[in-house]
Amino acid sequence: MSRTSPATYRAKRRVVQTLSTLLIVILPFLNILRLDIPTLRFYFLTSVLWVDEFYLLFLVIMLVLWIIVIFAMVYGRVWCGWMCPQTVLDELYYWLEGKSRRWLRVPGAGRKTGQGIVRWLAHHVLLGTAMFALSVFVGFNLVAYFVDPYRMLGEIAALSLGSVTVGIIIGIALLVWVDVMFWREKFCTKTCPYGMLQAVFTDSKTQIVRYATERHGECIECKACVRDCPMGIDIRQSPYQTECTHCGDCVDSCTAILSRLKTPLPTLIAFSWGEKGGPRMRWYEKLGFVDAKRWGVLALTVVYALVLVFVIQGRMPLSLTASGDRSTLYHVTDDGRVYNEYAIKISNRSLSDDVVLLTCSGADAAPSHDCAVALDRNPFPLSSREVRATTMRLYLPVHRLRPGPNRLQLTATSTEHPEIHATTDIVFFMPESDISGSGSSTKALQ
Ligand code: SF4
Ligand code: SF4
Repeated sequence: MSRTSPATYRAKRRVVQTLSTLLIVILPFLNILRLDIPTLRFYFLTSVLWVDEFYLLFLVIMLVLWIIVIFAMVYGRVWCGWMCPQTVLDELYYWLEGKSRRWLRVPGAGRKTGQGIVRWLAHHVLLGTAMFALSVFVGFNLVAYFVDPYRMLGEIAALSLGSVTVGIIIGIALLVWVDVMFWREKFCTKTCPYGMLQAVFTDSKTQIVRYATERHGECIECKACVRDCPMGIDIRQSPYQTECTHCGDCVDSCTAILSRLKTPLPTLIAFSWGEKGGPRMRWYEKLGFVDAKRWGVLALTVVYALVLVFVIQGRMPLSLTASGDRSTLYHVTDDGRVYNEYAIKISNRSLSDDVVLLTCSGADAAPSHDCAVALDRNPFPLSSREVRATTMRLYLPVHRLRPGPNRLQLTATSTEHPEIHATTDIVFFMPESDISGSGSSTKALQ
């Protein structure tokens, strides 16, 4: 596609596209925003949320959706033209297409002779192969948001990547390849839900690309703005055409033409905050904060995000559950003690390894009843994100508690950070008859 302009916005757009693409590629490697499906963990900033912390997941998803809506309300379709991977792929396609045509000296449209056909075929094989390689990378990157990318890379190196993962990556790659080879801008105008919903999010101050209809007499009808538009539209018809991705190429085109003619203002097309946006603006207005509504929404978003981060950071990273073995209510040992057995599950939800001590106490954390926790190891190491499921015995002298069920508390405490702990209620069964010092026995549930 030939360009008329020195491309001021286009150059800025390249920088933004490069940075946003890099961010999208490296985000899953940083575990900043990633849903790990095999382990059902959601990585958000420096925290890892577990699927049973659904309320936090819900609040995070709400924040992400809210930011998308606010961004669309303030900046219009700047995401589409300046950051969207679909646009980046389209532009990479056009760039490679042009390069390949020049390198291979592919003849233009019209009847082709023997060598021309070979060049034409080589051009399409090169383009299709390069785009497929890129599509496979896109597939890998997308799957990396749901499966540990380091693990996948290791498995790829060892040629042991699972067939399901390979199938999903290749499936995505094929869809991307068909899209970028044959669909491209049509995806934006006919399929993309974000583009379709755009009209719902906007208001009268949303950023648009506007043709100055009041200066229509200055237009020399060169149509450079139409020729350079990647979506093939004429922005002079209306600033609200759904095809417009707010890329700014038509602004560059018109600027290049009119600056040569030395008109009073060097362009008829410009970015504008709604139809009334003027050229003289304070710095915060240039950023899109042109009314109280936008300031209010910004304040609300910042408060919401801070509270959410505070709640996530402040939650207890240890979790503990215990359930008694009720096939046998209690066991009595030769030395006159009683023990109950429990199945326990302890999780370390932090991003650092820990050593955990398990203790018991009376109900409501009352002083200990001389109860002793028996585990194969206590305290024991618990790696980051580890879930340990094991059995445990709780011992008490025979007459320490009243006969029958007694409510106790079990506590897991980090030995490195004692303020980190998790507590759960358990029931301890004592024998109902006087059995002190009378050999071992058990009591099964009747
Ligand atoms: S580039 Fe500017 S001068 Fe040329 S047709 Fe478009 S609006 Fe008119
Ligand atoms: S009308 Fe202008 S801003 Fe909109 S897509 Fe075309 S070139 Fe980009």
